[in-house]
Amino acid sequence: MELIPTQEEVLQLLRDCGALRNGHFEYQSGLHSEEFLNPALATRYYQHARTLGVALSRKVRAHTELRAMIQDLSVVSPGTGGIPVAYAVCEALHASQVYWAERDSPELPLHFQQGVGEKKGEKVLMVDDILRSGRRLTELRKMVIDLGDEPVGLGVLIYQPNPEAPSFDPLPFFYLAKLEGRYYQNPDECELCKAGIPVEKVGI
Ligand SMILES: [Zn+2]
Repeated sequence: MELIPTQEEVLQLLRDCGALRNGHFEYQSGLHSEEFLNPALATRYYQHARTLGVALSRKVRAHTELRAMIQDLSVVSPGTGGIPVAYAVCEALHASQVYWAERDSPELPLHFQQGVGEKKGEKVLMVDDILRSGRRLTELRKMVIDLGDEPVGLGVLIYQPNPEAPSFDPLPFFYLAKLEGRYYQNPDECELCKAGIPVEKVGI
């Protein structure tokens, strides 16, 4: 695999390890889709996480403004799913630090561990395994700004925007592959339901 794999190579890697499956799925939001991706099934393999993280780092490094600030970059994940990616990106870039946000229970806001992210004016590269609804990344961006830091870019392995996903313009945005599976807002419109294909509920 080249240092920046093609979209098809990335998707093949995800299929080969069972992270990307085709079928008939119902998300927790009620959306139906013909594709389901669980990136953790890929990033549990250290070499896969490293391969994909190095590829993402190459895209970041190719951005002139970001390349000039790499030594000062904080690579920050909005949750645990992005941690393997954040470490791989940080290692490949020789960036400054890695940390991540946590949520103690579903109704509470994201937070960082005490003492992390408290130096004002940090330049933050937000990194996650996947951008689907963008909710956690939106919350992370606000959190970073509220702490007096500066989000300077966003990188994810997979961009699989659902209909409510926001734009993060004008932040530079990097991803290795885009999945444009069709989503159905309700089962009455779902072609797979109409075809009588059994539905599998997934936990996201
Ligand atoms: Zn359906």
